[in-house]
Parts: sequence; C-alpha cells; structure tokens
Amino acid sequence: MNDQTAKRNFDLGIDKQTVMTLGSHCSLQVLKGAKDEGLNTLLVCEEKRFDMYKRFKFIDNIVSIKNFKEIINKNFQDELIEKYSPILIPHGTLISTLNMDELESIRIPIFGNKWILRWESDRMLKQQLMDESKLPSPTQIPSKNEIDGLCIVKLHGAAGGKGYFLVTDKKGFEEQAQKLIKSRVIGSEENLFIQKYANGVPVYLQYFYSPITNELELLGIDRRYETDIDAIGRIPSKFQISSNIEPSYTVVGNIPIVLRESLLPEVYSMGERFVESSKRLVPPGMPGPFCIEGVYDNNANFIAFEFSARIVAGTNLYVSGSPYSDLLFETPMSMGRRISLEIKRAIESSKMGLITT
Ligand code: AMP
Repeated sequence: MNDQTAKRNFDLGIDKQTVMTLGSHCSLQVLKGAKDEGLNTLLVCEEKRFDMYKRFKFIDNIVSIKNFKEIINKNFQDELIEKYSPILIPHGTLISTLNMDELESIRIPIFGNKWILRWESDRMLKQQLMDESKLPSPTQIPSKNEIDGLCIVKLHGAAGGKGYFLVTDKKGFEEQAQKLIKSRVIGSEENLFIQKYANGVPVYLQYFYSPITNELELLGIDRRYETDIDAIGRIPSKFQISSNIEPSYTVVGNIPIVLRESLLPEVYSMGERFVESSKRLVPPGMPGPFCIEGVYDNNANFIAFEFSARIVAGTNLYVSGSPYSDLLFETPMSMGRRISLEIKRAIESSKMGLITT
C-alpha cells in the first residue's frame, strides 16, 4: 500500500465518520457530497489517476494502489479499517472489478445491501427481481435458435453497454459472438444474454430509498450518451447503409431529462414495487440509491430493461441538485450527498445496521 495521504483537514476531529469509495465512476460526486455533509473523505485510487484526484480539496485522504483488484487483500482492508473506520460506497467500478464472492467478502462496511449486487450482475436473478417487481420488461430470448426480429445481445455484469450488439437472426448472432470470442471479451456464447429490442426513448430513473424514514425519493432522471448508437443519427439515412457501422452501446456520458409530470405517479409506483420485492427476495432489501433503466414506447409506457442496485454514474449530472431533488430538499442534494445525509441520520439514531451490510 502506497499511502499518499494528503491529510488536509485535521480540524474535522477524529470522531467524524469517514466515507470511502474507489476513484472512478461517481467518486467525485460521492466525496463532494460527503464533505458537504461534514464527513471525512477517503479515496482509494489507482496510481495512474492520483494526480487527477489530488486536484480536489474535498478529498481528505487519498490512498493509491496499483490495481483496484488489491482492494480484496484482507491486510489492506484491515489497515484501512484500523486507520479510518470507513463506510465503503459501492459503485459500478467496484462491481466490474470484483466477482461477487470477492465483493461479499469485503470486511469494510458497505453502504446499502451488498447481497443485492449479485442480483444486479447475474442476468437471471436480475430478471427474477424485475418480474417480482412487476416491471414490464422486454421478452428474454432463451436461445439463439429463437431469435426472430430485432434483438439486443448483452454481456453479463456492469460494463457500461460495452460489447452489446443488435441482431435479427441466428446467423448474425453467431457472427457477432465469434468476434467477441476472438477478441477475448467473452469465453463462449453462453456468456451472452439475448433480449427483444424495446423501441422507445431511453430514460434512467434515479431513486433513493431510506429504511430510516421508509420513504422513497426520486432524485434525478437522465439518459446515457452512447457511442455509436447516438452517433448514427448524425449520418443522413442515405449514407447509413453504405457506411456499414454496427451500432454499439458504450456509455461516454449522460444527459439530463425531466419527464412529463403525468408520468411521475407510475415512476414512484415502479420504485416502490422494486423496494418491496427486494425486501422479500434479498433481505434487507434496497436501502440507498438505485436506478431503474428502460425506454418509453410510443404510448408513453415504460419498458424496463435493467436496474442498478447502487448509485449510477448518471447522478453525476446533479452535483448541485436536480429538478427533482430541489422539490424535496432545501439544500442542493446530489445522490452522493444524500448517501452521507443518510449515514449521519443513521449514526444519530443508532440505526447503522439498517443502511450497511
Ligand atoms: P444496459 O447496460 O442494459 O443499461 O444497456 C445499455 C444500453 O443498451 C441502454 O442505454 C440502451 O440504449 C440499450 N438497451 C439495453 N437493453 C435494451 C433493450 N431491451 N431494448 C433497447 N435498447 C436496449
């Protein structure tokens, strides 16, 4: 462990809780929010990004490591616990770096329900939880032999849409799958998941559920900005076929959205159904941030194709609050800040057991 601790805020006092996260994904927003709530902040980052992160004064301590995989090292974790007693905020990078056995073995208390992250990264469990929550979702295609019409083929895990492709038949599936196998992105076709393509406009609903108040909050809405699918619209249709571009879905950023107000009752209802079913299927349920992801079709009906059972990077849009958080809070409330507010409330009411696993 190469400890390049900056220690800029001695005046905070040692009794203050430390919020920790990995340097990637939404770490800046999470730690800024923690600092705004008066908590200590700890970033574990890869050496190559140390110079970037040290620019931000709200990060009290930076510990750099060669590779995020080192986070599973028990001695390393014990050192962090001994020195900082942190709460770890999980995000997409933690999930894509570790397998679920590794993640569940982490000794540092994790904000939220770490057991539900397995349900996020396993496509079958994910579908089960979405079905239990009565979220309308695209038909799942059990095998390549049953591909009939436009389908989207996905990889397992949180890879930000990387490697996804579209097919209309078995032959197209096999061709694209072979490319991924050759480039060693996947081991075999078994690693792919086929879903009917849901035609509509993408919308990502960012929620926070507090088990302390038993309230669900909608804190923001975004859509992803994805190459090449969002680039294709820039090519006039007469050139699209000859350009021969295979659409891919790699996320490069996020764009804010506000919905028609008449759609909000169903948005809240979907979030509540998700919270209730996760309590039944994966105790203790869904404390903290989560996101339901899908499209609105031409009847303005929502079709959900995914959920994330932790903070999503689209919340980075709202470091100073969103059109939705502003309706609920007097202060600018990012998702990162909301997490730290919950930590403070849990400490004050001795309910840490409700928000960490
Ligand atoms: P995901 O990793 O599932 O969030 O998906 C990444 C991107 O793929 C989304 O933002 C959508 O643009 C697209 N996508 C995923 N599933 C579907 C689907 N069933 N129908 C249409 N587009 C989809």
